[in-house]
Amino acid sequence: MVLFPFMAQGHIIPCLALALQLEQKTNCRIIIVNTPLNIRNIRSSLPPNTSIRLKELPFTSTDHGLPPDSENTDVLPYPLIMRLLDASKTLKQSFNKFVVDLTKQQDGNPPVCIIADMFLGWTVEIAKELGIFHSIFNTGGAYGTAIYYSLWIHLPHCKTTSDEFLLPDFPEASVIHRTQLANHLSNADGSDSWSIFNQSVLPLWFKSDGIIFNTIEGLEKTGLEYFRRNMTGRPVWCIGPVRCSSIRPQKKSGIGSDQCINWLDTHPPASVLFVSFGSQNSISCQQMMELAIGLEKSKKSFIWVIRPPLEFYLSEEFQSKWLPKGFEDRIKEGNRGLLVHKWAPQLEILSHRSTAAFLSHCGWNSTLESLIHGVPIIAWPLAGEQHYNSKFLVEVAGVCVEVARGNVSDIKHEDVVRVIELVMGGTEKGEDMRKKVTKVAEMIEDAIRDTDEGLKGSSVKALDKFIDAVLTKRCNSDYS
Ligand code: UDP
Repeated sequence: MVLFPFMAQGHIIPCLALALQLEQKTNCRIIIVNTPLNIRNIRSSLPPNTSIRLKELPFTSTDHGLPPDSENTDVLPYPLIMRLLDASKTLKQSFNKFVVDLTKQQDGNPPVCIIADMFLGWTVEIAKELGIFHSIFNTGGAYGTAIYYSLWIHLPHCKTTSDEFLLPDFPEASVIHRTQLANHLSNADGSDSWSIFNQSVLPLWFKSDGIIFNTIEGLEKTGLEYFRRNMTGRPVWCIGPVRCSSIRPQKKSGIGSDQCINWLDTHPPASVLFVSFGSQNSISCQQMMELAIGLEKSKKSFIWVIRPPLEFYLSEEFQSKWLPKGFEDRIKEGNRGLLVHKWAPQLEILSHRSTAAFLSHCGWNSTLESLIHGVPIIAWPLAGEQHYNSKFLVEVAGVCVEVARGNVSDIKHEDVVRVIELVMGGTEKGEDMRKKVTKVAEMIEDAIRDTDEGLKGSSVKALDKFIDAVLTKRCNSDYS
């Protein structure tokens, strides 16, 4: 089985988790393919006892107008991510060669399947040509990804002057507001690099033999229906959430896991707000200042994973001048707040009993990690499909309120205070969210249940079905 994640933490982490689950459940040899620096990081992120093999594809970032050694979105300012996406297409030739060579090494037997990231749709063309079973691994949620897909393919906002509009092929999602479009989508007209990339790569999903979603069957019904309609009978497997706890991304962390847990231990149950914007984005200088003032005025304890603001992202070390004067000293007093620079042990924080809520950019991994731990979300979506994950969490799941949209909008500290109070201040709305998120957490627990007595949840069964489909090549012969 060959797995090929896109070069971003939010894609590599769940892919490694899936690889480990496949390793446990099958006798197949598992090979993960990626660019050299990512392979190096993957090697040190995997547990030592794994038999998973790794394969480097040649890649030099400077050949693609990227800074030296830039092979992952986590070392790029957001505007350069498009270049990495474009550069990923150039891996087609070397990936093809790798698969052909592997087939030769295995006496003419090709790999049993290629599981490729949502942004590497072109792998389906190689798989079809070589007669290999192919599946897309979609690391986003079904609802958010369906909206993201529909928006990029149809660009409905270009065809209306209204601030609100429906999606032509996904009206069930109800209205989308212009403020829910990331900047590059808002400015897209079909001839820009994002439109060209998305319109050429994403539709290839529907040529695949199936799509694996890192989600739960019962959670995102409308989003899943959208994909099932488009797959015209071919399977959509909901196998999530994949278990990421044994994956240790080798990131320079601002804090040791123990230190963070010790800090949380000193706080009462359900009293701390966790604030993080994921692995690859940031907010603006002005927004950072308002967020800091709002956190301070909220009087709640918090852990904030803090990176330089957008205007200085990756160019400099964090500077105190980006925060209100004396902020860091004041929050240390009375143990009020903990600033973690760059990278925090997110799973450990979300699973700690003192964590009450998560102010999140709503990347899908962060979303799942919050839901599985029964932690309600304060959404501040920034890019990608995050706005639609937030829409889902607010409108469908009822476990979230939104505090802001995007990293250029104005936000006032009063909004931050109001929303924190709503979620953490013992309000009726806050309690309702907490009840609903507890139900979702139970639903997720049920989905991943796999007992010695043979009790299997829907996600476990779906992964079994996927393996069965691969090994019998059932789908291939039925549908290709
Ligand atoms: N993550 C982490 N510590 C951090 C930031 C991120 O462990 O300080 C992990 C997080 O737990 C999640 C992934 O990185 O598994 C981020 O993925 P997500 O889809 O939430 O957002 P992205 O980074 O892709 O925008």
